[in-house]
Amino acid sequence: MKKIYLRLLLLGLAVFSSCSPRGPYAVTNKVYKDKTKGYVATIKKQLPDSLKDSTGRPIPSEWVGTVNFGIRKANYVIIHYTAQDSVQQTLTTFTVTTTQTSAHYVIAKDGKVYHMVNDYLRANHAGLGKWGSVTDMNSCSIGIEIDNNGNEPFTESQIASLLLLLTDLKKNYNIPQANFIGHEDFAPKRKPDPGPFFPWKMLAQKGFGYWSDDILELPPDNFDYTIALKLIGYDTSDINAAIVAFKRHFVQTDVKPTLTQLDLNVLYNVYQKYNP
Ligand SMILES: [Zn+2]
Repeated sequence: MKKIYLRLLLLGLAVFSSCSPRGPYAVTNKVYKDKTKGYVATIKKQLPDSLKDSTGRPIPSEWVGTVNFGIRKANYVIIHYTAQDSVQQTLTTFTVTTTQTSAHYVIAKDGKVYHMVNDYLRANHAGLGKWGSVTDMNSCSIGIEIDNNGNEPFTESQIASLLLLLTDLKKNYNIPQANFIGHEDFAPKRKPDPGPFFPWKMLAQKGFGYWSDDILELPPDNFDYTIALKLIGYDTSDINAAIVAFKRHFVQTDVKPTLTQLDLNVLYNVYQKYNP
């Protein structure tokens, strides 16, 4: 009898602890909730900051609420690797204020997806960089971090979960195929992720980002690789960094800051996809 009671007690404790609102992230979950309340107050604000003329006099202004509006949606997805040794380490990094970094999603090696910021809110994942004319990428993108130290292949479970997530995001927010890019594309001078192990070819086949065709044409004689990189979206202010970033994404076999004839053929092909 005693043994049965003990088992029941242990079972009860296990059920209680798994349902308990306490847990390793109870405090940060509460901070998240309180912060969102603060943002609701900001959204509800109705009086505009008064505009002033050159003499400092307020110009006439009035709030008239429209009935036709919605919430702004992300138009890009930025893919990262965490460059950390475990998903646990990343969850800690994103739940302490000292790092000031975060992402909307983190995908563990076993395929588990951690959702850390609501899709409609701004996460701190992209930082300084430029893609086309977009500089504040955090304001218009969803950031996905994949648990990977940067020197290893991604797991099948991670890519399977990623594809399910991307399918949802693409559908929910109507994100164009061209706008699934890597952190390396947005910030070539600073970031190498998700790097040459990332399966961009397979993603492109499923409609997330682009990859070159199997049969490639030679570019025309007047083909300017700097302009082509720029028209794809790359920040070409450091051309070597832009070439390396392009090769990490679209070539992957080598990432030297030089363009071989094959690299140029790939670039010409990809450039046409981004500029149909
Ligand atoms: Zn990154």
